[in-house]
Amino acid sequence: MEDRSPAAPPEEFGGRRYNAYNDWVKRVHGGRLQKISVDAGFTCPNRDGTLGVGGCAFCNNDGFTPAYLRERRGILDQIDTGVAFMRRRYPGAKIFLAYFQSYSNTYGDIERLRECYETALAHPDIGGLAIGTRPDCLPDGVLDYLARLARRVPLELEIGIESCNDAVLEECLRGHDFACTRDALRRAAERGLSVTGHLLLGLPLETRESLIDGAGKLAGLPLDALKFHQLQIVRGTRLARRYRADPGSVPLMPPDVYLDAVVDMLERLPPRVRIQRLGSEVPPAQRVSPDWGIRLSRFPALLDARLGERETWQGRLFQSQKCHGKS
Ligand code: SF4
Repeated sequence: MEDRSPAAPPEEFGGRRYNAYNDWVKRVHGGRLQKISVDAGFTCPNRDGTLGVGGCAFCNNDGFTPAYLRERRGILDQIDTGVAFMRRRYPGAKIFLAYFQSYSNTYGDIERLRECYETALAHPDIGGLAIGTRPDCLPDGVLDYLARLARRVPLELEIGIESCNDAVLEECLRGHDFACTRDALRRAAERGLSVTGHLLLGLPLETRESLIDGAGKLAGLPLDALKFHQLQIVRGTRLARRYRADPGSVPLMPPDVYLDAVVDMLERLPPRVRIQRLGSEVPPAQRVSPDWGIRLSRFPALLDARLGERETWQGRLFQSQKCHGKS
């Protein structure tokens, strides 16, 4: 898809007003591509003491205990369970990717990474990998290894961006700045890796203006896909403690404000960036606030409706600029 500001929603959007990842998957793979979550027992530098011990302010560390890691089931066992569940839920699922989702899944030496990924790939139902990580856990050696792997199997590298605003990243104790993200995206793209960015909208200190500014920054970076999530306060996090002590210190977006924020950003993003996710649902038992009462499955229709009401579409305000990486 071309990198320019379209005068109307491009034909490739297939009747939508944004570039939906699921539509692309159907076109390219001929069916549903299902991710099977795997917890390989990684940690992250914001938990193991390298940068901090309490994690990012929004991150729930309930599951992170040595006992849990000792007792966790093996990767193949987790995949067996996940594939059986997904086959029942989505009988049309064609390809399964092992999704290394929990914590920072490139935070380890290459031998350990190789062992984890190859174990998953040895499962007969697994056709590729999705690997979630932080931008500061991607040294050149790891990226080189991932690039070699990506020549063999489909591989999506998911990088936690969360915010493009350094004050917001500092406030949520993220432990890296946006320059770190920019550098990781550039180095991943130089190696031809397919990169998805993970965004969290509504963090403390984030504003409509800073989100719009962030979309402008992202528009010039070599991203293949983006995931949007609304901030939800999860039990056991620093944010939950702050919210309980002073609810006014963590203003939460209502759904219409969130949708408008996504629209504001989409308008400024290139049409080629595939939108892989529009929100998330934290289980009620884990969630402190907010309770929108909206199922995730309704988000695509709500977003398209809002884009229509605002007579806009992804890329309408995109300012073409030199992309720092692959084109
Ligand atoms: S969000 Fe990611 S980087 Fe932050 S504490 Fe949780 S696992 Fe670590």
